[in-house]
Amino acid sequence: MFCRIVARETPADVEYEDDAVLAFKDIYPKAPIHLLIVPKRHIASITTMAAEDTDVIGRCFLAARALGEAKGLAARGYRLRVNCGPEGGQVVYHVHVHFLAGGRERGA
Ligand code: AMP
Repeated sequence: MFCRIVARETPADVEYEDDAVLAFKDIYPKAPIHLLIVPKRHIASITTMAAEDTDVIGRCFLAARALGEAKGLAARGYRLRVNCGPEGGQVVYHVHVHFLAGGRERGA
C-alpha cells in the first residue's frame, strides 16, 4: 500500500521527500501531528529486515530529525514509533516510522 503512495498512484499529503525516503500525513491521526516516514524501497517489517536495509532505515530517522527541525519541534521533542509484527501492532507491511507530536497521542 505504501509503495503505491511512493509511486504517487495513491494520494497522500506528502511532507518530506528525498531520494530514499518519503513522509506523509497519517490518514487516521492519533496526535495533532502524525506523520509516517517510509523507505521508498519496499521493506516489509523490522522483523524481517536485512543488514543491507540499515542505511535506508537510518535515513528514515534522519528524515524525522529534519521534520522535527522544520516544524520547530527539535527542542520540545516528539515521539517516533515503529510497530513490528502482529503483536507489535503492525498493520501495514511496509516499514514506517510514526512521527507523533503536539500532544499525547490517542490509542498509540
Ligand atoms: P501500523 O499499525 O504501525 O502498521 O500503522 C499503519 C498506519 O498507516 C495507521 O496509523 C494508519 O492510519 C495509516 N494508514 C493506512 N493507510 C494509509 C494511507 N493510505 N495514507 C496514510 N496513512 C495510512
